[in-house]
Amino acid sequence: MSTTSTSRIVIVGAGTFGLSTAFHLLGRGYTDVTVLDRARELPAVDAAGTDINKVIRSCYSDMFYAKLAREAMEAWKQPMWEGCYHECGVINVGGDQFDDRWKENDMKLGAPVERLPDAKAIKSKILSSLRPDTAATLTHSDSDSNERRVGSFTSYRGYFNPEGGWAEAARAVEILLLRVMEMGGRVIENQEVVGLVKDRDERIIGVKCRDGKRFEGDRVILAIGSWTASTFPELKLDSKCLATGQSVAIIQLSTEEKERYKGCHIYLDFQTGLYTFPPTEDGIVKLSMHTAGHTHMMSSWQVGGDINHTPVRKISTPRTITSHPSLGDGLRVPRSALCILRERFRQVYPELAERPWAGTRMCWYTDSPDGNWVIGSFPGDPVLFFATSGSGHGFKFLPNIGRLVVDSLEGTLDPATAARFAVDRDVSGATNGERASKVPQELDIAELCGPEDEEIVWFVVYI
Ligand SMILES: Cc1cc2nc3c(=O)[nH]c(=O)nc-3n(C[C@H](O)[C@H](O)[C@H](O)COP(=O)(O)OP(=O)(O)OC[C@H]3O[C@@H](n4cnc5c(N)ncnc54)[C@H](O)[C@@H]3O)c2cc1C
Repeated sequence: MSTTSTSRIVIVGAGTFGLSTAFHLLGRGYTDVTVLDRARELPAVDAAGTDINKVIRSCYSDMFYAKLAREAMEAWKQPMWEGCYHECGVINVGGDQFDDRWKENDMKLGAPVERLPDAKAIKSKILSSLRPDTAATLTHSDSDSNERRVGSFTSYRGYFNPEGGWAEAARAVEILLLRVMEMGGRVIENQEVVGLVKDRDERIIGVKCRDGKRFEGDRVILAIGSWTASTFPELKLDSKCLATGQSVAIIQLSTEEKERYKGCHIYLDFQTGLYTFPPTEDGIVKLSMHTAGHTHMMSSWQVGGDINHTPVRKISTPRTITSHPSLGDGLRVPRSALCILRERFRQVYPELAERPWAGTRMCWYTDSPDGNWVIGSFPGDPVLFFATSGSGHGFKFLPNIGRLVVDSLEGTLDPATAARFAVDRDVSGATNGERASKVPQELDIAELCGPEDEEIVWFVVYI
C-alpha cells in the first residue's frame, strides 16, 4: 500500500513510539499528521515513557539493537534534546550467565569499554565513582567508610562502557511533543480511542473515540503500548503485546548523600535484572528490575474494545494511577517485589538499601515472546499499522525509532528487519533473552504495598 507525503495519517498514542513516528513523518514532509491520546494532559502520567529517568545503553547481545542504540545515543547529544541525556557510563555485570556478546558487540561498534574481569575490579570501579565523606561525618578513613558502601559482587564479572547513561525521560517526551506541534502535527489530548471505523466493505478507514468522535485516515497507526491488546481484543494480540507491570521504587537521599553518590554510573545486573541510576538533581535514586514482571488479567468485556465481535477472554490490562487513582492505588507494587528489590539493592549499595522507599510505581510495557517490537501492517488490512514496543527497552530509541517505523510504513525497510517486527511473525518457542526471569506472575491485589507499610514513607505520583 503506497503512502505519500499527502496521506492522512492518524497516530493513536502520544508516547515514545507515537511521537517519534510523528516527528519522523513530519521531518519527511508529511502534511497531515494527527496524534490522538487519551490523557487529559500530555505526556500521559502513566505512559511507560513518562518517568524520572530511563537507561540509555548500547549493550545488547543482538547486534541490530546495539547498532540502533549507538545511533540513538549520538542523536540524544543533539541540541534538540536540550541536555536531557546524561552520559555517566554504564556498568554491565552478571554472574555465571554473563553474556559476553554484550561486550563484544559494544567493542565491535567502537565503544571504549573497560573490562571488569572479577569482583575486585567491579567493586573498585564503583568505589571510584563515590565522593569521599565530608570531614564532619568522617569516622573512618575515607576509603574505609566508602568500602562499606559498596557490595562484594562475589563471582561476578562484567565491563564498563563510558558511553551510555540516562535520559530525563518525561522532559524528553515533552520536548518531542512540542517539536511535533511546531512542525505542524495536530496533537489532540483527551481522545480515548475505543474502536476501529470500517466502511461498507469492512475496510478500516479510521478510529472512534469514547466521546463519539471519529478520525479518518489513509493509515491508522496504533502506538498505544501496553494498552494495545486490551483496547483491541478483536485483533488477538494478547501474546505479542502482553501488558506486563514492572515494579519501580525510589529513595530520597540527603544533600550530603547526593553529593557522595552523584558520580555513580548506571548499574545493570543482567543476572538478577536489577538496575540503578545515579541520584537526580533532587537527590532521588530510582531502581527497578528487568524481569518478566506481573500481568493483570481482566475479562475482555471489562476493558473495552469492540465487544460485539469479541468472545470474552482474559487479557492482561495495565493497572495504573489513571485506572486506579484513589489514594495512589495504581502506583502500588507487590510487597514481595519490594523485598527482592531491597535485597538486590543491598548487594550493590548496602548503605542506601536501608533507606525507606520514598515512592513506588507499577510501570507497564508491552512484552513479546521474542523481545522484538511490533512494527508493521495488520495482516489483511494494510490501513491499520502497529508501532509498539516488545519489551522494556524502547525508550532509548525515542530519537530514532520513528525513522524505522516510517521506513516500514513507506515499504522501504529491508526485508529482514521488516520480518523481525512483522505483526504475524512466528514467535512459537521464542524466549525473550533480554530479561532476567521468564514467566510473569499474575498480580495479587491483596499483596500490594500500601501507606500502612512502615518501610514506605510516602506515595508520590512521580514523573
Ligand atoms: C519500569 C520500566 C522501566 C523501563 N526502563 C527503560 C529504560 O531504562 N530504557 C529504555 O530504553 N526503555 C525502558 N523502558 C521501556 C520503555 O519505556 C518503553 O519501551 C516505551 O516507553 C514504550 O513506548 P510506547 O509508545 O509503546 O508506549 P507508551 O510510552 O506507554 O505510550 C503509549 C501512549 O498511548 C496512550 N494510549 C493508551 N491507550 C490509548 C487509547 N485507547 N487511546 C488513545 N491513547 C491511548 C497512552 O496514554 C500513552 O501516551 C521501561 C519501561 C518500564 C515500564
